[in-house]
Amino acid sequence: MGKKVRDRYHYSGAIHMHTTESDGTKTLEEIAAIGREVGLDFMMFTDHMGLTNREGGLEGIYGDTLVVVGYEHNDEADNNHYMIFGSPHVYPHDLTAKQYVEAARADNALGIIAHPIERRSREGKYPPYPWLDWSTDRFDGLELWNQMSEWMEKLKPYNQVVMALSPRKSMVGPTEEVMRLWDEFNQKGRYVGVAGVDAHAFPVDIGPFTVEIFPYKVHFKCLRTHLVLSKPMSKDLGTAKKQLYEALSGCNVYISNMRWGIADDFQFYAHQGERTVVCGENLPSVENVEIEVKLPSRAQLRLLCNGRKLIETQADRLEYAVVEPGLYRVEAWKGRRGWIFSNHIRIGIE
Ligand SMILES: [Zn+2]
Ligand SMILES: [Zn+2]
Repeated sequence: MGKKVRDRYHYSGAIHMHTTESDGTKTLEEIAAIGREVGLDFMMFTDHMGLTNREGGLEGIYGDTLVVVGYEHNDEADNNHYMIFGSPHVYPHDLTAKQYVEAARADNALGIIAHPIERRSREGKYPPYPWLDWSTDRFDGLELWNQMSEWMEKLKPYNQVVMALSPRKSMVGPTEEVMRLWDEFNQKGRYVGVAGVDAHAFPVDIGPFTVEIFPYKVHFKCLRTHLVLSKPMSKDLGTAKKQLYEALSGCNVYISNMRWGIADDFQFYAHQGERTVVCGENLPSVENVEIEVKLPSRAQLRLLCNGRKLIETQADRLEYAVVEPGLYRVEAWKGRRGWIFSNHIRIGIE
């Protein structure tokens, strides 16, 4: 379980999935068995408006896989989908988005905005459910990349057969728009960026056929969210959950599309003298700071500062002497397909 990379421990898992308790097509136990089989280190369940799996005692460590149960809250108009983990209960349905964001914060629960910008056609059978209430900034993070949502947005009459046959290959990456939004929020505070699978395994109409595009197993070999921990994940459920939630709220995270290679040993560090920091951490000044990046294989590697591209090169490693303070992050692309996206390291800023 997990992988030791220098003096840190990397874990990869799947966030955002639905069971038969809402609109998914398998039970939690069935889905957890699939997750175990494909080697997920953690799974975060999010049925719509319900915590029945948690109430049924189904959180736990299944083999080597940590299973936690949160839920996806939506407002009465079915917008503003919010993934909440660790809340004492499901919040009332008549709250506004701002109110349930605040309620989760007050209860010390973890809250992540699901598919913040969703743009598919409103006319069709699968309308978009965007986030609309930007009057609050009290959430913990954004789902930068949503597997089902991107797939549905890209679906056009002329490409649907190809997309149905190779759903993982057709994923492109988080949009520039969502990355800009996320970079901007991080200028004001700490907001984690995660990948969500949004697994339901429901059938989609492709022309005259009804096809199950993303069986859970395919989902779990696609978009992953990776944690970088300073200690191995505990075998005790309560402690492991705390480690998971702290790593997420602390932005010790990167995301990947596994289709282009296992990213468990992706490395992104900033060194200053004896000190080395990872995603989510900070260094107080730019003095003698050196960034180091190592990819599992060659790719188009980008280093960004405050959302601006500093370097772009075809490589599997990079060293860079920092001159300006800011929020640094890394992207790796395989051709036109996004592969790995880090969270930020903060250098010379709070
Ligand atoms: Zn949703
Ligand atoms: Zn969902």
